[in-house]
Amino acid sequence: MPKVVSRSAVSSSTDAQPTASSAAALRVYYCICGEFVLVIDKSLASLPRRKTDNAIIVRAQDSDDGKARVFKLNAKVGDPVLIERDGGHERQFRFQCSRCSLTIGYQTTPPPVKSAPFLYILSGALSQVQGQVPADAFDGQNDE
Ligand SMILES: [Zn+2]
Repeated sequence: MPKVVSRSAVSSSTDAQPTASSAAALRVYYCICGEFVLVIDKSLASLPRRKTDNAIIVRAQDSDDGKARVFKLNAKVGDPVLIERDGGHERQFRFQCSRCSLTIGYQTTPPPVKSAPFLYILSGALSQVQGQVPADAFDGQNDE
């Protein structure tokens, strides 16, 4: 079957303006192995990132600061890890691709997904085009 690459999936420049149509459009993201991983109501490219590891911040719970994103994560649960941060440690409960076990994101409370205020998606882990390595896959290799 020929691969269909939509132009709108390549350009994220229009994501900055929240319009009724873009808010309603769901985005689908794939692992670099091609497995479907995430469907979300907003482009990951337009979401804020953590200063610590450049991970994409997906709001998973409603709060005074904003409403939760609408999303569904298709992933298996990996081993929790302890990360050293300035001023202490951070426990990360990791989510992995269900096919190739690549770590694609994490949250700071035990599963299920959305039990923490935020879900973090690792920079460069997911692509909007199935089977294509994301442009930023090799960014942020200087892990702290
Ligand atoms: Zn995968």
